[in-house]
Amino acid sequence: MYFGSIEAGGTKFVCAIGDEELNIVARESFPTTTPEETMTDVINFFKEYQAELASIGVGSFGPIDIHPDSATYGYITSTPKLAWQNYNFVGALKAAFDLPVAWTTDVNAAAYGEYYYGHGKGKRSVVYYTIGTGVGGGAIQNGHFIEGFSHPEMGHMLVVPHKDDHFEGACPFHGNCLEGMAAGPAVEKRLGMKGQDVPADHPYWEQEAYYIAQCAYNTTLMLSPDVIIFGGGVMKQAHMMERVHRHFTELLKNYVKTPDLAAYIVTPKLVDNAATIGCLAMAKDLLK
Ligand code: ADP
Ligand code: ZN
Repeated sequence: MYFGSIEAGGTKFVCAIGDEELNIVARESFPTTTPEETMTDVINFFKEYQAELASIGVGSFGPIDIHPDSATYGYITSTPKLAWQNYNFVGALKAAFDLPVAWTTDVNAAAYGEYYYGHGKGKRSVVYYTIGTGVGGGAIQNGHFIEGFSHPEMGHMLVVPHKDDHFEGACPFHGNCLEGMAAGPAVEKRLGMKGQDVPADHPYWEQEAYYIAQCAYNTTLMLSPDVIIFGGGVMKQAHMMERVHRHFTELLKNYVKTPDLAAYIVTPKLVDNAATIGCLAMAKDLLK
């Protein structure tokens, strides 16, 4: 028996097949162009495994409709990616394969992967953020995603600008929200080079860490989770976590006693596989 995973990102779709132990047995990426093109690639990929495929888990860029009783459940809704606006993602999969489909956000899927097989294993609650092209967040409590009228949009929490940072923020909605100040494109806009090309000793990284630490501070005080995980391209800066821990300690002022920071604010144990493993786990859970 096989499970399918679709990590639907703004630049690429990563499709994977997992076995019953969630070992990844096949994986392929397709560029995110139009729904017609990209979904044709996706469907062709899964067709090869159709005979053994039991269910599919999807973690998608958003915003998406996650309410099972909504007429537009399974749709990508008001995304700035025009071709994907009001696209019936789950409907397209169901039309191609008569299989159960699990549907959530890309960051929720990554949170789920870490909850079951990464730093959240054996813990009650996990919060996962990605600091990449955008900033997204997902939270899990006792195996359930935290959600209400919609999924969380934690990446758009407001942050206090650093005293030496005069950047107005890159978010078209809020300016200086976390995504507007700390996502990869904000780094690039400020410094005129991509984050991966900024040297490790550049003074800007202290400001970046200050924003990520504010996120950890807000998360700690709102949810008191067992672990906070930061993934995404920007966290590939190996020096970042030490800086985040330092700023977090300064901000929190020992107001609450958190778990030891080395185990509390961490990068993903599953490295770049968190969302894929999470989608496979969601697919497997559908059969329970
Ligand atoms: P996505 O968010 O599109 O899924 P990533 O998480 O890889 O993809 O994020 C891409 C963003 O992260 C880009 O803005 C890129 O410049 C930035 N980035 C990638 N690698 C690094 C790095 N080593 N250091 C800092 N920024 C990086
Ligand atoms: Zn914003």
